[in-house]
Amino acid sequence: MRILFLFLDGIGLGDDNPETNPFIRAEMPQLESLLGGRKLTKSSAPYEGERVSLRAIDPNLGVKGLPQSATGQAVLLTGSNIPAELGYHYGPKPNPEVAKYLNGGTIFSKTVQARKKAALLNAYPPRYFDGIDSGKRLYSSIPLALTNAGIPLFTHEDYFSGHALSADFTGEGWHEFLGFPNAPLFEPEAAGEKLAHLVKEYDFSFFEYWASDYAGHKQDMPWAIRQLETFDSVLKGLLANWDFENGVILLTSDHGNMEDLSTRKHTAAHVPLLLFGDKKLRNAFDHVIDLTGVAPAINQTLQLD
Ligand SMILES: [Zn+2]
Repeated sequence: MRILFLFLDGIGLGDDNPETNPFIRAEMPQLESLLGGRKLTKSSAPYEGERVSLRAIDPNLGVKGLPQSATGQAVLLTGSNIPAELGYHYGPKPNPEVAKYLNGGTIFSKTVQARKKAALLNAYPPRYFDGIDSGKRLYSSIPLALTNAGIPLFTHEDYFSGHALSADFTGEGWHEFLGFPNAPLFEPEAAGEKLAHLVKEYDFSFFEYWASDYAGHKQDMPWAIRQLETFDSVLKGLLANWDFENGVILLTSDHGNMEDLSTRKHTAAHVPLLLFGDKKLRNAFDHVIDLTGVAPAINQTLQLD
């Protein structure tokens, strides 16, 4: 039994409005066919299909203010209602109060304690590590939880040797922004295939995609559409190579943003909980209604508690 957690930063379930919502405009034939012709919007949830289910879950957690990344991601990794305990949403990077929750008790640390294997499949460039080492950059919640669990982040060498994936799936960023003209490039579908193969090494795999939140803050409709269409092709390659009887792919987010480009801020929208896998494997997630329910359902599925 294995789980792949696909984390897409800043995607909520929005209105069926093509003016503001790239999920309406983007062509996503793979996902739409699985959702019985529906788009990934508020009006499509809940949906229960043969191999996929979609539910809308609440990232606000009863706390005023717009949900933020550090607390939202920390909730997803621990199951604790951290914003309620602290009295605020916080982000993008964790402050010391949020960081305390990420030392032990995360899905990553529980996987290690259960003597199972976990990984964050993103490859990080040298300048990321330089920033961390010099103190100029703080870990965001996900790499902080990972490294606190004693699991190393993957490097450019892991990417070149085929053990990790590019944060943009295709590797174009390594060429365009990171100065690696020889970095491997993947067509989106091939990146999905690659992802399916990498996941076979682990009980719990995590992949973090952050550009969606960025496109939301930039209110960049063409870029948002391009991201979604790339992601749909990734999904095609991933699902074609997925063992539905022995694994669940879980896709969710920390807060809304990209689904409403009329604002550059995060939104209070519910976020999608998309599950790919056989019905009996998805049962553990039936009662998830907000971000706090995700980690317990993963822990139960992987028998980590
Ligand atoms: Zn953001």
